[in-house]
Amino acid sequence: MLKDEEKHFIINTYNRQPDFTLLITRGKGTLVWDENGKAYLDFVGGLAVNALGHACPPVINAAWEQMNKVIHTSNLYYSEPQVKLAKCLVENSAADRVFFCNSGAEANEAAIKLARKFSKLHLGAAKIEIITALNSFHGRTLATITATGQEKFQKGFEPLVPGFRYARFNDLDSFQSQLNDSTCAIMVEPVQGEGGVHVAAADFLVGLRRLCDENRLLLIFDEVQCGTGRTGKLFAYEHDAVLPDIITLAKALGGGFPIGAMLCREKVASGFSPGDHASTFGGNPVACAAAFAVMQEILQEGFLDDVTDKGIYFQEKLRLLNRKFPGVIIEIRGKGLMIGVELKEKGQAVQRLCQQKGLLVNCIGDRILRFLPPLNVSREELDLALEVLQNTFTEVFGGE
Ligand SMILES: *Cc1c(COP(=O)(O)O)cnc(C)c1O
Repeated sequence: MLKDEEKHFIINTYNRQPDFTLLITRGKGTLVWDENGKAYLDFVGGLAVNALGHACPPVINAAWEQMNKVIHTSNLYYSEPQVKLAKCLVENSAADRVFFCNSGAEANEAAIKLARKFSKLHLGAAKIEIITALNSFHGRTLATITATGQEKFQKGFEPLVPGFRYARFNDLDSFQSQLNDSTCAIMVEPVQGEGGVHVAAADFLVGLRRLCDENRLLLIFDEVQCGTGRTGKLFAYEHDAVLPDIITLAKALGGGFPIGAMLCREKVASGFSPGDHASTFGGNPVACAAAFAVMQEILQEGFLDDVTDKGIYFQEKLRLLNRKFPGVIIEIRGKGLMIGVELKEKGQAVQRLCQQKGLLVNCIGDRILRFLPPLNVSREELDLALEVLQNTFTEVFGGE
């Protein structure tokens, strides 16, 4: 059996469990099917990757067409899909230029390298430190686990990369207190994802921008998870009209194809010269063609407003659920279709039973349920998911 076989051949980093971990064999829209043909509503969405659901025709067509032209060329050559996608990202953001890579961690690596290079060039060799938030998540490479303000991701991999300090999320004074003569940048997620779906307060982000302006620091927004339409805006920074100097994207951008991007303002882009940074697969033509198709869908009139409306709808229904089960939920939070439900306890049990009942939801730690449905999820599917959640609550927590 495949599940038995995999444990002999795959390094055990994901702790898959044969009695619980699914083998998904296909998907369509918000639905996926396991090897027994059982259907599930997918509110994990490939961890915020499958923004348009599974088997989305425009994404498939764009990728297929490009595959028939050329799959890979290397960055020694010009690339039409790269230029089309970069132009689209620039025209719809505060950024002027793009660097393509293959993942969120790589996009953040590029951002960290650029922040250091730019600052050393313009402000002196001592400018190397980046302040990030506690409870953040920026990736799994050495530099990005160091940027990540959670010890559990760092333990055992020391020595870490020098040049990072941590401050409390949503606490401007805490960030201010970490400032020193070596600081070159501040990096935060406008909505912390992996850390438990924590939304940055508007005045916090406005304050960070001011702090950066006053001290000649770069403001980096890691929008790997909260970007690309997830919060009801193409970029999460748009909610509070705080313009970052560098933005990183990945997850949803390729609609399932691996792609990452670092976007930045013109002035900052000049920090990189030819040869300073590169990626063999970065900006792969198929991934870029798929991402361009994703962008066209998301940018359609009304699409993002609908994400906002559905997010509000889902949160309202969750609040009704909260009233039926007093004391079970500690907090409901999020923006758009990036929604967290912090339970008092038993998150894993809820996750397991939801899955049995046909709803896939992610559980962070043992208490935070994270809902990341496709952005084109229907209201009927949201209702169905809520019904499963309610039945699950009844079984796990009793009463009603
Ligand atoms: C997932 C994530 C990353 C890392 O992305 P990978 O593609 O796994 O390297 C970085 N930042 C944030 C905010 C993320 O959610």
